Amino acid sequence: MFVTEDEDGRQMALKPMNCPGHCALYAMTQHSYRDLPVRFSEPGLLHRNEPSGALHGLLRVRSFAQDDAHIFCTEEQVQDEVAACIDFGLAIYEMFDLDTSFELSTRPAERIGDDALWDRAEAALTQALDRHGVQYRVNEGDGAFYGPKIDMHMTDSLGRSWQLGTVQLDYNLPERFGLTYIGADNAEHRPAMIHRALFGSFERFIGILLEHLGGELPVWLAPVQAIVLPITDHQNDAAAAVVDTLAAAGLRGELDDRAESVGRKIRDAELRRIVYMLVVGEREAAAATVSVRERGAGDTGVSPVTEFVARLAEQTATRSR
Ligand code: ZN
Repeated sequence: MFVTEDEDGRQMALKPMNCPGHCALYAMTQHSYRDLPVRFSEPGLLHRNEPSGALHGLLRVRSFAQDDAHIFCTEEQVQDEVAACIDFGLAIYEMFDLDTSFELSTRPAERIGDDALWDRAEAALTQALDRHGVQYRVNEGDGAFYGPKIDMHMTDSLGRSWQLGTVQLDYNLPERFGLTYIGADNAEHRPAMIHRALFGSFERFIGILLEHLGGELPVWLAPVQAIVLPITDHQNDAAAAVVDTLAAAGLRGELDDRAESVGRKIRDAELRRIVYMLVVGEREAAAATVSVRERGAGDTGVSPVTEFVARLAEQTATRSR
């Protein structure tokens, strides 16, 4: 943790994880079994004081946003909730066309909570996986100190394995925070807690994706979807108008109006792995068209600006390119 101390000697720290905060949030109100499951999601900013030698590009950073969620539910709801987390993960990984595999990690040597709790938690995760019919490997002793977990991995284009998401079942934090709900029997019960992060962190996920795709993000995800390249400065205004048309359609365009040759601008755009390069010369400027170059395909011909924008909007909306 990053820890600070004020002049009165009070220690404070930057939040390294959301779990305790969500437990406190749950505890602020009385819950009935009819309210459960209660699900909190918080893509909040977290900080961890990693040693500088461990930092690595986007893959290990000190400040990051986790797609974090915590689900508080009854024992009977655990399997359905875990299965729903697995479904959600599969839907996300499918969107990015990733090849995923599952691992179940069981109780580690250093842990909190008694063995009866661990037995129940491991059985619940095993049943959720079995019910789902996905293949998985068991990693004995690799669970978190507070509970067993399901990890989702992907293999990238170079055969390397990366951990993406994790779903962890936890009976210990609810115990430590004294969390309760009122059951149908009018007595107090302890909820189970599920920790869910499917991207891991957005920074890390983008890092893995960039590695996997060799920097060639699909156009729907790319920070710059199309770069507009005027051939001479006489076409700067027409090129800027194309960028405006893209922006008006909610698309991400950029203008390269540097005093460089168009060949140089194309090379630079290719180095940045930009999918569409829209060249605007005298003819294009006069006819409200662009000459389209596409990453990996080269010159694909002249297109009216409105037609190109409609095509890109369609590709973005359907995530088809
Ligand atoms: Zn958590």
